[in-house]
Amino acid sequence: MLKLIIFGPPSAGKGTQAQRLSKKYGIPQVSTGDLLREAVAKQTPLGVKIKSYLDTGKLGPDDLIVQLIKDRVSQPDASNGYLLDGFPRTIGQSTELDKMTEIDLVLNINVDLELLVERAVGRRICTKCASVYHVKFNRSKAEGVCDKCGTALIQRDDDKEATVRNRLNVYKDQTAPLIDHFKKKGNLVDIDGSKGIEDVFLQMTAAIDRLSK
Ligand SMILES: [Zn+2]
Repeated sequence: MLKLIIFGPPSAGKGTQAQRLSKKYGIPQVSTGDLLREAVAKQTPLGVKIKSYLDTGKLGPDDLIVQLIKDRVSQPDASNGYLLDGFPRTIGQSTELDKMTEIDLVLNINVDLELLVERAVGRRICTKCASVYHVKFNRSKAEGVCDKCGTALIQRDDDKEATVRNRLNVYKDQTAPLIDHFKKKGNLVDIDGSKGIEDVFLQMTAAIDRLSK
């Protein structure tokens, strides 16, 4: 059994790493966001309850989320373990998780938040061909115009500075107490997320492979 948690700020490449880890270790990636969407779409009894919360713009209460996770990790494909992504998100959820099982390792991706702001705020996209540019790191030949199709580039609302900062602040506030909790338990490892995708992956697999020694 290999039971992992992956933490990391939005747009720090968490999804990419989670997919690769899932493949390498043969364990499913269990994402709260995906489970919520799936339960709602399938209109399971839990999904119907959750939908009423989502409609009000709130995340479901901890016990609903925990139930969703419990159901998921008892599926046959999780018999060798799983990688939790987006869970736990509150101290209440992590207390429930502690009652449920013992997590082997918490991978905590550290990235300078200002770097994430810079990456997002400078991003420009072409609405016609979906090419992605950056005003500093990947400029178009003519300013504000797509190289491939000549369409005017735009900044998505999601990439506006206030939105990005808000998202990162929410993450910081939510996760800080959890990080403390796992540090006390002694199963948290810090991953330097400022490095490239390959390097970050190697840091993670090195930490996981140390577990079995
Ligand atoms: Zn284009």
